[in-house]
Amino acid sequence: MNEAMLPKILGHVRQTSILQSTMSMLEWDQNTGLPPQAAEYRAEQLTLLAGMVHQRQIDPVMGEWLDQLDTSSAQEDPSSPARVIARCMKREFDRCRRLPQALVEELSHATSIGQQVWVESKLSDDYQRFLPQLKRIVELKQQEADCLADPGQSRYEVMLDSYEEGATVDRIQKIFGALRESLVPLIREGSERCARLGPSVVEGHFPIVPQQRFSKWVAERIGFDFQRGRLDQTEHPFCTTLGPHDHRILTRFSEDSFSSGLYGVLHEAGHGMYEQGLDPQWYGTPLGSAASLGVHESQSRLWENLVGLAEPFWRWAHGPLLQHFPTEFRDVSTERLVQDLNRVQASLIRIEADEVTYNMHILIRFELEKQLMSEQLRVEDLPEAWREQYRDYLGISPTEDRTGVLQDVHWSAGLIGYFPTYTLGNIYAAQLYAVADRQLGGLASQIERGEFRPLLDWLVERVHRHGQTYLPMELIERATGEPVDSRYLVEHLATKCR
Ligand SMILES: [Zn+2]
Repeated sequence: MNEAMLPKILGHVRQTSILQSTMSMLEWDQNTGLPPQAAEYRAEQLTLLAGMVHQRQIDPVMGEWLDQLDTSSAQEDPSSPARVIARCMKREFDRCRRLPQALVEELSHATSIGQQVWVESKLSDDYQRFLPQLKRIVELKQQEADCLADPGQSRYEVMLDSYEEGATVDRIQKIFGALRESLVPLIREGSERCARLGPSVVEGHFPIVPQQRFSKWVAERIGFDFQRGRLDQTEHPFCTTLGPHDHRILTRFSEDSFSSGLYGVLHEAGHGMYEQGLDPQWYGTPLGSAASLGVHESQSRLWENLVGLAEPFWRWAHGPLLQHFPTEFRDVSTERLVQDLNRVQASLIRIEADEVTYNMHILIRFELEKQLMSEQLRVEDLPEAWREQYRDYLGISPTEDRTGVLQDVHWSAGLIGYFPTYTLGNIYAAQLYAVADRQLGGLASQIERGEFRPLLDWLVERVHRHGQTYLPMELIERATGEPVDSRYLVEHLATKCR
């Protein structure tokens, strides 16, 4: 039976992937240099394609094939291609089927308007203007969760599960609780130490062209394959896949900051290398797709933070850096460079936070989202709750909403339950790195010599090539030989605070 069903399903999926990747191509183009007057026609192109993709995804024939595949492969090993495809695709299909068309359309409309209103509200620092939109979005997300929930499953758990399958609120709460306890003293020590430092060498004026050249060179050396990808500039950095051998990373360079461009490239290259490590023969199917947002983020954070912010990396990259910036970094020692790149200080803006305080921003959002979904917190009271949480977690509090509750786009886009995947990514990254370090016989000396291949091969073998064969936390457990644990992240962060 499988032999008959699988090719039919794969044929259908392949055509859907062609449509989806065409949409991605149009979106990539939209973000890299679309003339302003072309926006309206581009929206029409994308809407038409989105409708076609949706029709294919809810095609009843596909539902029948998936049911048959599920029944006929029930006895097989859970990691066999037929079982993985049946499990993942049936789950998606059932999700789509449980959502009424009217709700899907209203949510799409509300979040599209919501993002526009959010931009204006943030600019004018006016939460009241955003309030009616956000209230509607939260209500619709509650309805969505109610439609999707299995018996006994909370709304927030449903949201979380859509980004990180199998991650329960209980488990995340335990992991995050332990993390918070360890972070409090670390942040205090780190901040006290950094408060005594003078001006930073990574702030100043850095011409864009050498930044671009240096960053591209680094991305290539760590293993991003430019025969199967490219690097371009955009307003909001991201990474997108346009085909089995076409991975695009996009970033933004700023003359005032040396680190934002380079670390943006390292981050997106990490995402890109994960996509390049997936098995191209399964492109578009669950076997050739990333395990989850959290696992995706673990790959970007691993290269950006664990590798790129550490001293061995700069012992290798310092010489080439001087070739690109002979005056800017003249007389700066490697130790000083690493010290200034790793300064710890509580701040209000998540995306500008250092590696140690970053997770506190996520823990705060996790608490607030949970309360919003369970109606323990009213959308009207969100700005005050936000300030209170910041005082409690980081000892600082915003006086304006634009540096507070209005800073992130996520909620205006209906992305509730998404934030925890950032911290999960950090936790997975530290655990993967620690185990790879042990198994590969000391990564520091390899990195210092510019040898990144062993680490990348290890990640491809343990993480990338499995696609969605295993649930995210199960994949990390199999890759590292132990359950997901925040202690590796804490040990790593402690090195920045001593
Ligand atoms: Zn990312």
